[in-house]
Amino acid sequence: MYCEDCKTLFEGGQCPNCVGKHVREVAENDDCFLIQKEMLWGEMLADLLRQHEIPFYYKPVLGAGITMSVGAYQDSYRFYVPYPQLGAAQEIVDEVFSNVNEE
Ligand SMILES: [Zn+2]
Repeated sequence: MYCEDCKTLFEGGQCPNCVGKHVREVAENDDCFLIQKEMLWGEMLADLLRQHEIPFYYKPVLGAGITMSVGAYQDSYRFYVPYPQLGAAQEIVDEVFSNVNEE
């Protein structure tokens, strides 16, 4: 299922991300939420997606009150890719950020 409010793909009848009610079956031309990453990793991911010729766009996560509550917290990006490219994009994310976790 697909949430029109936050563009998240999920299973079940209600969006686990925003608990939005605008839920429907996903369509071929939908943009899907891929991942949220801090700015540094976001820039890196954007480069990789370009290299793999996956169309995408991202939005900074601003004004959510996070910056104030966490102090030095860096801004993050939310990434969106077209539904047909979601699988390939997810693979890139898994590959890149599974290595990062081994620091
Ligand atoms: Zn949602």
